[in-house]
Amino acid sequence: MPVYDPLSVINNFRYTVALPAPSLYAQYNNLTNVDIVLNALLRLGFDDVYEVSAAAELVSEAAREYIRAHAEEAPFISSACPSVVRLIRVKFPSLVSRLLPIKAPVEAAAEIARARAMKKTGLKPEEIGIIFISPCPSKVSYAKAPLGIEKSNIDNVVAIKDVYPLLLPHMKHDESQLSPISASGRIGIGWSNAGGEAGGLLVDNYLAADGIVNILRVLEELEDEKLHGLTFVELNACSGGCVGGTLTVENAYIAAAKTKRLVRYQPVSKNHLSDNPELKNIYWADNVEYEPVFRLGNTFKESLRMMGKVEELTAQFPGLDCGSCGAPTCQTLAEDIVRGDAAPNDCIYVLRANIADLSRKISHLTENADPERTLSEEDDRLLHKYIKELTTELTSFGVPDRSGKEDPIT
Ligand code: SF4
Repeated sequence: MPVYDPLSVINNFRYTVALPAPSLYAQYNNLTNVDIVLNALLRLGFDDVYEVSAAAELVSEAAREYIRAHAEEAPFISSACPSVVRLIRVKFPSLVSRLLPIKAPVEAAAEIARARAMKKTGLKPEEIGIIFISPCPSKVSYAKAPLGIEKSNIDNVVAIKDVYPLLLPHMKHDESQLSPISASGRIGIGWSNAGGEAGGLLVDNYLAADGIVNILRVLEELEDEKLHGLTFVELNACSGGCVGGTLTVENAYIAAAKTKRLVRYQPVSKNHLSDNPELKNIYWADNVEYEPVFRLGNTFKESLRMMGKVEELTAQFPGLDCGSCGAPTCQTLAEDIVRGDAAPNDCIYVLRANIADLSRKISHLTENADPERTLSEEDDRLLHKYIKELTTELTSFGVPDRSGKEDPIT
């Protein structure tokens, strides 16, 4: 099953608010006005929209204040990418205290969106669905097990690649008819590109790295205290930043160029903490701690048994540490599977191999059929079994299962 939710989750609530990631805008060609996308989300069926980029500007403001007040503890490491935070927690214990203890923009956005929706509608919190439109699976893991807070305000996470084509027909309306919704400036929308978060801090002595291989190198150098004079280190697991997330459709570098064009004439920032009383506390309420692998189970014996399973599973993965599954490394995916939080086919390479294997088995069975194309009872049973498994795997791969014939929204 895909790790993210289908768009039909909007039917589970009386009122829904879409939280579009800023990387959504960069999927469209020649987009000159963010309101075209935001109005299309309303036409698609959401009751309201709150931009994650608006909350990103609040996070940037809080980060500027925090860094100024704690200058002697620098360098700080960005905590916005869940894959990076996870990587630090499992592999770099000495760097955990350097994580910026501020909520990710999507969490701040979810908190504000729910509070505003409750005020506007009078509905109970559970009747309101806060739906994040995400560039990556790691935000799905984040929503289930948030960082620095007990419970996330995000109810569901849907993939940009699922929403992207559905918005297209709703984006063809006359621009003069658009409701003015967008409230983000250059800083907020710029968070979608590598270096965008650091740019919002308005400091010069920062380092921004993207892609798992590069960030591992930077973290090792930080751990060995080889990097000096830095105030801030921005790390994004995906190449190019969130525009390179695995749930997007556009090439990361083209998307990054589109973002730059889109924000060129925007004001620097349009959001300030003092104007957002709904956001009670932008800082982490709980400490984020080192997550050693021997804490897998409740007892030492159980952890040892689970560690053995982790090793076995890790050996089955390609060892690329590509982050496509939402876990920063193949070993952390194996740990998630052993904990019951993920499945082996969350790994795109395992999934592809399964699909190829099932396709081979199906074609072998059909090739062995007699000239009348009849199969023995056993082969017929196997064929149905393989087709069913293949349909499930293809659905995980993002190919919609048309056998149920349901519309993605209704
Ligand atoms: S860099 Fe990639 S994994 Fe990290 S938050 Fe952005 S899209 Fe998700």
